[in-house]
Amino acid sequence: MDLHLRRTDRDLQQRSRDFTEQVLIPLEDECEENDGLTPASAAVAHDAVLGWEFNAINHAPSDGGRGHDLFEQMLIEEQWGRATGALWDIPWRTSIPLAIGTEKQKQRFLRPAARGERRDAYAITEEGAGSDPTMVRTSARRDGDSWVITGEKWHVTSGDVADFLLVHAHVDSDPAKATIFLVDKDSPGVRIARTPKYTHTFVFEHPIFAFEDVRVGDDQVLGEIGQGFELTKDWFVEERLMIGARTMGASARALELSLEFAKGREQFGKPIIAFQAIEFMLADMAAEIMAATSLLYRVCWQAARGDIDRKQLHAMASAVKLVCSETAGRVADKAVQIHGGRGYMREYPVERMYRELRVDRIWEGTSEIQRIVIGNEFKKRGAGLYVTCPSEE
Ligand SMILES: Cc1cc2nc3c(=O)[nH]c(=O)nc-3n(C[C@H](O)[C@H](O)[C@H](O)COP(=O)(O)OP(=O)(O)OC[C@H]3O[C@@H](n4cnc5c(N)ncnc54)[C@H](O)[C@@H]3O)c2cc1C
Repeated sequence: MDLHLRRTDRDLQQRSRDFTEQVLIPLEDECEENDGLTPASAAVAHDAVLGWEFNAINHAPSDGGRGHDLFEQMLIEEQWGRATGALWDIPWRTSIPLAIGTEKQKQRFLRPAARGERRDAYAITEEGAGSDPTMVRTSARRDGDSWVITGEKWHVTSGDVADFLLVHAHVDSDPAKATIFLVDKDSPGVRIARTPKYTHTFVFEHPIFAFEDVRVGDDQVLGEIGQGFELTKDWFVEERLMIGARTMGASARALELSLEFAKGREQFGKPIIAFQAIEFMLADMAAEIMAATSLLYRVCWQAARGDIDRKQLHAMASAVKLVCSETAGRVADKAVQIHGGRGYMREYPVERMYRELRVDRIWEGTSEIQRIVIGNEFKKRGAGLYVTCPSEE
């Protein structure tokens, strides 16, 4: 096993760290105080993404992206994850299913989005359909030469800044015909029904969208009728790995801040790190981060080398998301405890992490759903994937 980062990987990691420290972290206080960025700051940040070449890191250069493999994407997003306020979402990660679009769809949606001239959001979840997307009620019916979409979508992340949506709908209300439609936000019948507030501070919003007899043509069907679950699964796999990356970046920062604080904060005549209770919390944080990060790096490395097939990656990405997000929750909790009252003040990054990392156990499939994916894998093919490492032969 070669456990060394290549020079190009180290350079990429450093560039991403510099971007996080020079562009994202300086925006944290503004984002927290204003519950988002001012238009002026958002515009500067948008230009910075292009300047630092971090737009659409997951898409091919021929489609306007930066062409990074999953391992490189993980290295980048791990560093972005250090920033609070979900500022990691400023660099747009154009949804991966768009890569299978037709030439015309790429020209209209993918390439402008990758270049930062458009922005997408992915709409699957509904009031009655969360963990079980077969319950989706948003339907598409044929009328003449168009499709008519009706329904409502919840929690559409960055739906406020997006100008088109990937809408997961069931043709003729049949889950076997789940299909992704590319819907321009300014189409007649598309409306933001409500913009709820959430626990975390997030640089963008998660609106609820209503679709009232929205007409789209065949040229707005992504892939085939009935390919919806497959495409959404590809999106989940990428997102789950990147949640692993970002939660580990956040955890590393929480540990570093806690260590620094524990060395500087004195009570009872000594720095609190001298108390074994504090030292042990730091030790548990460090050991758990090391374990989860090792898993994350290994799976992304195997994925980038093509060592594992699509099904295996789906099963392993669930383990990554489960382990990393649950680890981050425990790390953030300890970071708050070590910071004492300051850990409960919004002006301290660890307080924000404590609120913000909670959603990583919920979105893109809850921890329970990740366990179900893992369980399904070992029911079908045994536990091999989780207990052995593939070899060259
Ligand atoms: C901030 C935020 C942003 C989001 N962004 C998006 C987005 O951009 N696009 C999008 O489409 N969705 C988005 N979501 C939705 C998110 O993916 C769902 O909330 C998530 O999948 C869970 O669905 P649910 O909320 O309906 O919970 P439910 O499915 O109702 O689950 C409730 C509880 O029951 C448990 N449960 C459900 N089924 C089982 C089972 N079979 N076995 C054991 N336990 C089970 C769950 O784990 C959970 O604990 C977002 C959510 C949030 C909070």
